[in-house]
Amino acid sequence: MQVFQEIGSLQRFLENERKNGKNIGFVPTMGALHEGHSALINASKSDNSITVCSIYINPTQFNNKSDLEKYPRVISEDKKFLENAGCDVLFCPLDQVMYPEKPTVEISFGPLDGIMEGKFRPGHFRGVGMVVAKLFHIVQPDNAYFGQKDLQQFIIIKRLVSDLFFNLNLIVVPIVREADGLAMSSRNSRLTPEQRKKAPVFYEALTVGETLIKQEEELSVVKKEVEQLFLRKEIQLEYFEVVESDSLYPVKDLNQTKNMALCVAGYLGEIRLIDNLLLIL
Ligand code: AMP
Repeated sequence: MQVFQEIGSLQRFLENERKNGKNIGFVPTMGALHEGHSALINASKSDNSITVCSIYINPTQFNNKSDLEKYPRVISEDKKFLENAGCDVLFCPLDQVMYPEKPTVEISFGPLDGIMEGKFRPGHFRGVGMVVAKLFHIVQPDNAYFGQKDLQQFIIIKRLVSDLFFNLNLIVVPIVREADGLAMSSRNSRLTPEQRKKAPVFYEALTVGETLIKQEEELSVVKKEVEQLFLRKEIQLEYFEVVESDSLYPVKDLNQTKNMALCVAGYLGEIRLIDNLLLIL
């Protein structure tokens, strides 16, 4: 695997590959890699001749300083992980490479910024939009891979690509889960054994919601049941929303909507977890 920390050397390498007719798949990550990331890398490897993975913990998307400081940093393990996964190129820039100066441009996403992750993590998507736009300009991939795990992130990146005419395809990869249903996440490594035992409640809430919706229960009943579940397990629920899966607008009438997403966020101690489930009626 080729490892680059600088933009120029990465671009020279990729330019040469492109001249040789290779197409480029791109998997942006923040490291502490797990099987969820492998699914993205495998998808990229099957569609492209070269797979580039980036590891960059983007400070501008953290609205919580302690979350940024405590975010797991395990670059040597990650390098081995990527070698084993058959990744071709790792781009792992330092902050001064990605942000040589504070940007004056701001990227915001209108109403998409004001709901769910945008509402509870003010400024988060502005940071994501900025770093993903920078990475797309640097790597210029043919195909870029994102996880359904961060559904709202995928939707805003779709808007970023269409609004700014990025010449690439976006591919969304389904959520990879642990055996007990917990969605894999780099933050899971910070859970205490006791918190880890409780963590499957996020997925449980989604499946309870799905069952109730299929039984044609009212939205208010579905929400109440999920709230009760979190109360019983003594876990702080931040939000549980049923939204249209394309627009992420809140569903008002379950009978009028076919494609929806159930989205949940909450805290185990100071660790914030999110999950979602797509539902087609
Ligand atoms: P992160 O390193 O957490 O920023 O994630 C990098 C990419 O991996 C994002 O597109 C995530 O949505 C995706 N991802 C993270 N966890 C999972 C998972 N459990 N299943 C599928 N994709 C995931």
